[in-house]
Amino acid sequence: MRRVLLCSGLDPSGGAGLLADARVAERFGVRPLGVATALTVQDSAGVRAVHPVPAEVLAAQLAAILSDAEVDAVKIGMLGTDETARVLASALSLTRAPVVWDPVQRASAGAAPLHAGDLATAADLLRDHLALVTPNLSEAGALAGFPVAALAEARRAAGAIRDRFGVDVLVTGGHLPVAPVDVFCGAAGIVELPGERIPGGTDVHGTGCALSTAIACELAGGIDPVDAARRAAAFVRDHLLAPVRIGRGRPSVI
Ligand code: PLP
Repeated sequence: MRRVLLCSGLDPSGGAGLLADARVAERFGVRPLGVATALTVQDSAGVRAVHPVPAEVLAAQLAAILSDAEVDAVKIGMLGTDETARVLASALSLTRAPVVWDPVQRASAGAAPLHAGDLATAADLLRDHLALVTPNLSEAGALAGFPVAALAEARRAAGAIRDRFGVDVLVTGGHLPVAPVDVFCGAAGIVELPGERIPGGTDVHGTGCALSTAIACELAGGIDPVDAARRAAAFVRDHLLAPVRIGRGRPSVI
């Protein structure tokens, strides 16, 4: 059985982060291994606080697991701080598996930012280990250095991020104004992956987490990045049609 190492924040509601990522992996028939990068205080209405896991604890957990077990892919989600990126970068030299990073900055609801540092600094620390980064529009803006609101800017940002950090990019365009389109930029240039507007879909919790984990699971099976992105988007779309209601706030994608 293939294995994916999940390095994500803990959302106790299970709608996003490590618990959601583990459920996605199980659906793909991939065995999840995991470390929590940060502990969040949140419910289905939003994030209230973020507590990073101490660097020495995270470093020891990663060294233990990566020295003992082979993994076929790694998914990184919220980091909390740039220091966490430093710890992950050092640990990832223990594996050659493809690494997908969802560069989470803020949750769609709640006051507390999920990354207190600078995403571009974190990207500089992680870049040598990454196969793919999956920013949404605002995260793409932070990585590219200019605001991203329309498809033309998403295309420009995907190219700029690839040039700046030397890593393949999937700008997730579920919030684009005219129609949802994900924009992939790899060695062969830009590929647009048109999506489908699902009523209420942009209010569902955990979609970015599910997408990036699904991509990591496909990469673990040797699928190329563009096909992995296509299949992962189809998985998320199917789940958006039947989201799960855990509490009184927003429903979760899985
Ligand atoms: N909590 C954790 C731990 C996350 O990793 C994320 C997103 O990556 C969120 C919450 C926010 O999810 P959403 O913006 O989908 O509500």
